Amino acid sequence: MKFENKTAVITGGSRGIGLAIAEKLAQGGANIAILYVGNEDEGKAAKEKLEQYGTKVEQYFCDVSDFDASKEVVDKVIGEFGGIDFLINNAGITRDKLVLNMEEKDFDAVIGVNLKGTFNMIKHTYKHFMKKRAGRIVSTSSIVGLIGNAGQANYSASKAGIIGLTKSVARELAGRGVTVNAVAPGYIGTDMTNALSDKVKESMQAQIPAKRIGTPEDVANVVAFLCSDDAAYVTGEVIRVDGGLAI
Ligand code: NAP
Repeated sequence: MKFENKTAVITGGSRGIGLAIAEKLAQGGANIAILYVGNEDEGKAAKEKLEQYGTKVEQYFCDVSDFDASKEVVDKVIGEFGGIDFLINNAGITRDKLVLNMEEKDFDAVIGVNLKGTFNMIKHTYKHFMKKRAGRIVSTSSIVGLIGNAGQANYSASKAGIIGLTKSVARELAGRGVTVNAVAPGYIGTDMTNALSDKVKESMQAQIPAKRIGTPEDVANVVAFLCSDDAAYVTGEVIRVDGGLAI
């Protein structure tokens, strides 16, 4: 896929699914701005990895749940790159517990990063996309946003919220040539899922009709399609990338 002269902003682009998306878009020629909150070495390593594709790459330390900080970074990216073509809302966290044991701070933290962070980034790029009369917004939901999951009420609610947000903004921006879609990954091998116990991993894998855990690249391929010209007439869509897990 060709993305020359395009700029992609990828939240949570320092590792896992976000880094795979950044790599896929950079391979197609896109300039990349990654946002992350972890340690600087990790961000630098991601930047070096992405620079091998020969496009402009910058890393920004930004907590997407912070409304003002995310505005500052969006404005900086627009200034330094000359504009934004693709916004990929991928940053996400978990604080898994049964509601019985879930504390208010567990709920607020997950909603704050996953859902409010997605809103913040959309809000701060909205006028830019409107004026440009072009653009792609792709957000990472999850199959648990579609079907729920015991122990993930906060996370599932945040991911279901992303679907409502996506469909609403898709309706608002469709007339401006901006598409707004979501991907809903199933069980993908990253740091997030590596933290699960072997027992949970085995039981999840056994339930996947495709009989394998997904890779970050499986998700990146779909995101790249949604960013491509071929997907110009696809908006308000949620595409599962789950090997059939939520059929
Ligand atoms: P991951 O390996 O844990 O990476 C999460 C990324 O989000 C990291 O780059 C992290 O940055 C960034 N991040 C976390 N909090 C942030 C914040 N407040 N502001 C900015 N960036 C922040 O996760 P992943 O598995 O690749 O997941 C990526 C997305 O896919 C998430 O939204 C997740 O919910 C979703 N998803 C994953 C799976 C799966 O099976 N893995 C399934 C469905 C959906 P640092 O490195 O700086 O901490």
